[in-house]
Amino acid sequence: MTPKIFDLTGKVALITGASSGLGRHFSKTLSEAGATIILSARRVDNLMELQNELKGNSHVFSLDVTSNESVENLFKEIKKEFGSADILINNAGVNDTRKFKDLDEESWNFVLETNLNGAFRVAKSFTDLLLAQKKPGSVINIASILGLRVGLNLTSYAAAKAGLVQLTKSMALELARSGIRVNAIAPGYILTEINDDFFKTEEGQSYIKSIPMNRLGLESELDGLLLLLASDASSFMTGSIIPVDGGHLVNPL
Ligand code: NDP
Repeated sequence: MTPKIFDLTGKVALITGASSGLGRHFSKTLSEAGATIILSARRVDNLMELQNELKGNSHVFSLDVTSNESVENLFKEIKKEFGSADILINNAGVNDTRKFKDLDEESWNFVLETNLNGAFRVAKSFTDLLLAQKKPGSVINIASILGLRVGLNLTSYAAAKAGLVQLTKSMALELARSGIRVNAIAPGYILTEINDDFFKTEEGQSYIKSIPMNRLGLESELDGLLLLLASDASSFMTGSIIPVDGGHLVNPL
């Protein structure tokens, strides 16, 4: 049972990239806290599977964040079905690990187009809707510790997430007086289905050794912050970029 301060009963939450990993987990967490969930991603089959697992109200919409048309269609549907939404979890993301010398424009654009332009597109449509209706809301951008520090072979990902950090702060500044709060979660290395195998390899194990807590995070360890930022418990917070990383950002130089 969710403590009252984090209760989301009556709220509508849009989650992008809900078809796997963290987005799937966030959907369950917000649903358990009482929110009506809008599940969105390209793999609609996965979303429908997840919908069957959720006990509360949820709706499935196809979304490709790299397409203006797809984002526009989603918000037309949201307006029609719900009037608007209260919470956006801007989570959809991709990676394409390459050495900088092997990075080409196609790979760079793929990552930037999803992780930064896609996040902008969805956040812009969401906040335009709230502004038009003079409604408050909470945007939670899923950044990364790589938006605050760099790592090997992750140039485009780190640049996109750093952009997302500044997008978060700029939006927070300009939207504060309209009651729209914009914050970011910067996860460190969190164990999900798709990285499980990698972290068992020798290289993966050496990454884990660089984390002061000497372990990966669990999806559930993001729940407290997610519920804090989504709910009125964080009503005086905006523009905050909060790492959840087992101390990774404070590892010694
Ligand atoms: P996954 O690959 O499991 O999930 C990524 C999600 O993004 C999928 O649901 C995918 O859905 C969706 N997505 C990708 N491209 C698009 C697109 N064009 N349009 C709509 N949805 C899209 O990865 P994670 O769960 O690990 O990552 C989720 C977020 O968390 C990302 O932003 C990532 O950068 C961030 N993050 C993850 C960390 C980790 O350790 N796992 C650490 C730090 C940050 P579909 O393919 O169905 O469209």
